[in-house]
Amino acid sequence: MTSVTSATAPLLDYDEVIATYEPVLGLEVHVELSTATKMFCGCANRFGGEPNTQVCPVCLGLPGSLPVLNGAAVESAIRIGLALNCDIAPWGRFARKNYFYPDQPKNYQISQYDEPIAVNGYLDVPLDDGTTWRIEIERAHMEEDTGKLTHLGSDTGRIAGATTSLADYNRSGVPLIEIVTKPIEGTGARAPEIARAYVTALRDLLRALDVSDVRMDQGSMRCDSNVSLKPIGRAEFGTRTETKNVNSLKSVEVAVHYEMRRQAAVLDAGGTVTQETRHFHEDGYTSPGRSKETAQDYRYFPEPDLEPVAPSAELVERLRQTIPELPWLSRKRIQDDWGISDEVMRDLVNIGALDLIAATVAEGVSSDQARAWWGNFLVQKANEKAVALEDLPITPAQVAAVVKLVDDGTLSNKLARQVVEGVLAGEGDPEQVMADRGLAMVRDESLIQAAIDEALAAQPDIVEKIRGGKVAAAGAIVGAVMKATKGQADAARVRELVLAACS
Ligand code: ADP
Ligand code: MG
Ligand code: ZN
Repeated sequence: MTSVTSATAPLLDYDEVIATYEPVLGLEVHVELSTATKMFCGCANRFGGEPNTQVCPVCLGLPGSLPVLNGAAVESAIRIGLALNCDIAPWGRFARKNYFYPDQPKNYQISQYDEPIAVNGYLDVPLDDGTTWRIEIERAHMEEDTGKLTHLGSDTGRIAGATTSLADYNRSGVPLIEIVTKPIEGTGARAPEIARAYVTALRDLLRALDVSDVRMDQGSMRCDSNVSLKPIGRAEFGTRTETKNVNSLKSVEVAVHYEMRRQAAVLDAGGTVTQETRHFHEDGYTSPGRSKETAQDYRYFPEPDLEPVAPSAELVERLRQTIPELPWLSRKRIQDDWGISDEVMRDLVNIGALDLIAATVAEGVSSDQARAWWGNFLVQKANEKAVALEDLPITPAQVAAVVKLVDDGTLSNKLARQVVEGVLAGEGDPEQVMADRGLAMVRDESLIQAAIDEALAAQPDIVEKIRGGKVAAAGAIVGAVMKATKGQADAARVRELVLAACS
């Protein structure tokens, strides 16, 4: 790879940065909505299809095609606005943002400009130390995604040096919501942490709203991070840079941290920060992109092919009723209910077990039991199959049914695991698997007694030992009986019966 000068841009020590400067942040997050169809046409909105198979005249921008607004996307936009405590605009037009680029076959993007659907909100973001930080939201607006270009022949995958570029318009016209913060001030040294905490909270909130799959790795959630510095105590903001498409939570933190150190070095050397977009590199630095366009350059004007969006007060109220509790608050409540440590809680969140356990508990079993199944045996099965826990072919209701069968003595823990294996193998509900595989515990004591008599007769030497007081020797007989009953006897009861028979 050719060396990029910015990788070695002078950086000021972080402690020195915050001794002299105050950072101002602005975060722009794009989220692709997980609606069934695209924003302005009926094409499927699905990630990863064969290139150019989910396209039509509208999303290819062919002459004479006309957009039709997706009502489900508008409802998602309103719900996002409400969850962010925004005012919902009773009336607003789409706008055309004009520019030429091959990922945008119409040569304009339909967006919202000065009449966004949601304005003036906030989000109280939880920080690691248990406090919250209020991030003010300027607006959330609707727009359409562009197609995806793949550049071949360059080392970096970027257009510079590429010999061929491929265009895939499957993503063209996918509904997007852009959420823009007001300038975030007063964070001081905590700016990188707070930037990351905000994007994390936003992701969790959007996931709880079930409006997007918020996969930063797949680009369904993307963050642009604006950073500027000003000398401490000065009111006026400094010049900002905008680092584009930062694609993980950790990278949001790294990008802010890096830009603060880089800009401080520029300012300390008597230079000025150039207003520009910058690229983020996975190894933790940013490099210059294009110099920033202004709104003027885009020649925005109201979109003439779409009616204004005018949600009724009733619709907004109905949608307000669907806004869930903030996910970190419900998590805190769940953690208190279940009486588990922060660490256990974090593990359960990381493996995606929380909702599954809660749903299992809702079927009437204890949280400890539900947690044991999902957090141990099932997560292991998911890892073996390399699927997400929630994609295992077993439901919380089925897990609860197994737990109940163990509780009432129908299954031992070992048999229960075999039943669950059967469910995972597609053999039906737990009761079904148990019947088909003949896995229930043997409750008929005459059967157990017969097996004991047989084992005792086969091993007279052991019987002698037990009679002579070596009670531990009973283990061999219990083992033989368990084997004979295929593990379907209650081992403790077998032991009792063996000792009784030898007394
Ligand atoms: P653009 O279209 O140029 O990206 P936006 O208004 O969409 O501008 O977003 C700019 C983001 O940067 C917003 O979050 C805004 O609050 C923030 N911002 C504005 N001025 C500054 C500044 N001087 N320093 C840091 N952030 C800023
Ligand atoms: Mg912007
Ligand atoms: Zn289409």
